[in-house]
Amino acid sequence: MGAGPGVYIRLGWGYLSPVDLKRLEERLTGLGEPAYRARQVWAWAAGGAPGYDAMTNLPLAVRASLETEVPFSTLDAEAEQRSSDGTVKALFRTHDGHPVEAVLMRYRDGRRSVCVSSQSGCPLTCTFCATGRMAFGRNLTSSEILDQVLHFRRTEPVNHLVFMGMGEPFMNVDAVLDAARRLPDVGITHRRTTISTVGWLPGLERFVEEVSEPIRLALSLHAADPALRSELMPVNDRYPLTDVLGLCRRHRERTNRRVFVECVMLAGVNDSPAQARALAALLGRDAFKVNLIPYNPTGMYDGSSRAAVAAFKAELDAARVPATVRLTRGRDIAAACGQLATAPRARTRA
Ligand code: SAH
Repeated sequence: MGAGPGVYIRLGWGYLSPVDLKRLEERLTGLGEPAYRARQVWAWAAGGAPGYDAMTNLPLAVRASLETEVPFSTLDAEAEQRSSDGTVKALFRTHDGHPVEAVLMRYRDGRRSVCVSSQSGCPLTCTFCATGRMAFGRNLTSSEILDQVLHFRRTEPVNHLVFMGMGEPFMNVDAVLDAARRLPDVGITHRRTTISTVGWLPGLERFVEEVSEPIRLALSLHAADPALRSELMPVNDRYPLTDVLGLCRRHRERTNRRVFVECVMLAGVNDSPAQARALAALLGRDAFKVNLIPYNPTGMYDGSSRAAVAAFKAELDAARVPATVRLTRGRDIAAACGQLATAPRARTRA
């Protein structure tokens, strides 16, 4: 959402993201170039090269052809906002005009974490999330997902990534996995990559059954009680929680890694000690790790007090369910979880 006090700074045309990789390969084949050329271009882009010009192991003629025939970007970076905590939010536009936002979070320990969008907007309508209130555009391509990362990679190394921006990653599972599989080239290992889902069953099933890379999984749960969860997240009526949790447990068995469970803490809605106990009973001790997320204002709810969050966590601790409270970043520029949206309606609610 672009409504923070820090106004977006317009960027010039100079900010280019890497190429549409499919188009690049086609073009290089058309030029009669060997197959390894596309890999060379990708290696440069993944390393943060600013454009074709920098790719010194490519023949000049090839660089010149690509320059005119394959835009170095699938996204135009339109604007950027910086938070007082060092978080940066970038607003992009796809070539067909859809808005996309991504966030870079910087931590003192050197962690540089990128939060990317998998769709422009989101067709789901979780009541606490701003993205669901803007118009849904479409699924992003894998190049459009990678372009968000490379935008930040050109200014500094990055080492963590979460699919927690706009959209539901498992509604766009092919592009998301394709992008995730290329991330190690950019400096982000699979173990430092997390895909967050509402529990979109078809995509989740594919992820759990087919993906052998150690990519991490996060489930946006928010409530253990099915009626409350349906109220907060209408998608809960479509894919029952028992099926979703079953797949998460299977992921735990297959990978031996815990699944993160995210709970946005809403005052008087899902934050009582009794609800914490119900959550602990539902999840058990072995397969999950709970992340309690302070609610970032989107106009719909009040966030739980610190005391309520602490009491909730104490119940989980007592039940020996691992739990942490998430650090909130970028709230002053509406770059925090659930605040990404570009529709005017969402803006006025910030
Ligand atoms: N659609 C996926 C990916 C988006 S992730 C999913 O929902 O998991 C966005 C994360 O931020 C999720 O955990 C989501 O529940 C959380 N979130 C959404 N709105 C929020 C808000 N207003 N405050 C804090 N967290 C929020």
